[in-house]
Amino acid sequence: MRFHIITIFPDIFDSYLNESIIGRAIKNKLISVKFYNPRDFIKGNKSNYKPVDDKPYGGGPGMVMRAEPILKAVEAVFKKITNYELRIKNKKSKVLIINFIPSAEKFTTAYAKTIFKKYTDVILICGRYEGIDARVDKILKTKKLSIGDYVLTGGEIPAMILVDCVSRQIEGVLGNYDSREEERISSSEVYTRPEVLKYPFNAVHGKKSKNYKVPKVLLSGNHKNIEEWKQKK
Ligand code: SAM
Repeated sequence: MRFHIITIFPDIFDSYLNESIIGRAIKNKLISVKFYNPRDFIKGNKSNYKPVDDKPYGGGPGMVMRAEPILKAVEAVFKKITNYELRIKNKKSKVLIINFIPSAEKFTTAYAKTIFKKYTDVILICGRYEGIDARVDKILKTKKLSIGDYVLTGGEIPAMILVDCVSRQIEGVLGNYDSREEERISSSEVYTRPEVLKYPFNAVHGKKSKNYKVPKVLLSGNHKNIEEWKQKK
């Protein structure tokens, strides 16, 4: 699975993509993540400033991301995809282009699975400011997705969320493929050692420490009861 991220802030992704499970997936070539900065696809003005945004038609306080630099960045992605196809003979790419929009259809694990099953390449457009000139969606026939009912400053965090969630569908990305929570009964109420946690660690101001115990059922070794407990939770 190849992710192509169109962003004016590629450095935002550095630490997240280099660490832990996703970092290992990239090193092991199970996924690849490439960046395309719209600024690199436009000419600078006299002082070499490269404006990727402009004032909105119809007025309003925020700026709008211009269509041309984004369309040119997407063209660069398609060139790269053609190169992959030439290198790996007979391997036809299936490309999905996503534009993140707060009010759009919600991204879900079910949709992450669809992406993994249907596509080889995902182009993620990260908006900033008031968003992207709407003609980009019309021209590219983008899939519009939201990650939740709140407004962030940009599409970079939504892109990371999507890369993470789709990647864990790929066999080999998680240490144990069957450990994916979405494929089994799992509970957000989880415990590890010690069996009894005393807190506060030291009695303070005359307040005694309390014992916080792991639920008995989890210590019982009875798998049927444990599964039932998890399902309830
Ligand atoms: N004016 C836009 C609107 O009313 O829908 C919001 C723009 S928002 C400040 C800037 C960018 O952040 C958006 O273009 C989008 O790419 C991204 N974004 C913010 N919140 C998001 C969310 N909940 N889901 C997906 N993308 C989001």
